Amino acid sequence: MKSATHYIGVDVSGAKLHAALVTETGEVVERREAVLETEAITEQVARAVSELRDLAPNIAAVGVGIPGLVNRQTDRVLVSTDLPSIVRGDIHSELMKATGLRVELENDANAAAYGEFKVGAGRGSRDMFFATIGTGIGGAIILDGKLWLGASGFAGEFGHITIDAEGGECMCGNTGCLETVASAPNIVRRTKERLYRDNTSSLSKLALDENFTAADVAREARNGDDFALLMIERTGKYIGAAVASVINLLNIERIVLGGGVMEAGDLILNPIIREAGRRAFQPCFEATQIAVAALGTDAVSIGAAMLARDAANPSLG
Ligand SMILES: [Zn+2]
Repeated sequence: MKSATHYIGVDVSGAKLHAALVTETGEVVERREAVLETEAITEQVARAVSELRDLAPNIAAVGVGIPGLVNRQTDRVLVSTDLPSIVRGDIHSELMKATGLRVELENDANAAAYGEFKVGAGRGSRDMFFATIGTGIGGAIILDGKLWLGASGFAGEFGHITIDAEGGECMCGNTGCLETVASAPNIVRRTKERLYRDNTSSLSKLALDENFTAADVAREARNGDDFALLMIERTGKYIGAAVASVINLLNIERIVLGGGVMEAGDLILNPIIREAGRRAFQPCFEATQIAVAALGTDAVSIGAAMLARDAANPSLG
């Protein structure tokens, strides 16, 4: 009996390597996770691929999502501030050699967007905008079923839309970018600043632990803490203002929002939709569905596997 064709998707964009054995239709059969060995990426990816291949010998291709910019014509990694080692070498050739398989490299946000588009919250749409809101804020645009990369590959920099012309400095050189207020570390910064300033906020549970994270703010908001709720709502308003710009610019069918900050669910989604509706041009807004991402921490792996599938079988894409 011929065994079913599978794909392997690998995510090396976080502190951990996350690999998934994925069916032809995008279901995860098995996962592998390990602390990322930043100076031995090729060896580590090859090891994870080999382990998953033992479970399903018929692997058609491997997709790898990386925190950087990939030229998909030459398969060279052009920029990666998080993993400089993969820019120095030719990681694509090394991975093909080490695994003996066809390998596709893609930027992590693009891979996650593609995963959501094919099998997650973007399924059924033709045009989709994707944003991931976590430690940083990234974005990707899919038009007519294909990733739209822009003139030099940087399209979809959602985190650097200006929200406040007088706002704080961003690492990109601009001031008042969405990322300077809505990324997880900046939610914590804003929450702390307000806790110190505002007497009534000392009643908030968050004041008891000064090492709280954005996930703690979301949890306390879900538990009904007024102050935490206010911070999540304000964050939603900022994101909603940026979403309104995307809606006005692209008149896009669907917007999918993922990343750790969106784990607050409806508590943050509702203010985002409200603010976007208040600011966007109404006929554009009414044509847009705004949804929370569905694939969670599998998004990059599944998307990378689906990109590998569609590159190996152009007729499926
Ligand atoms: Zn910026």
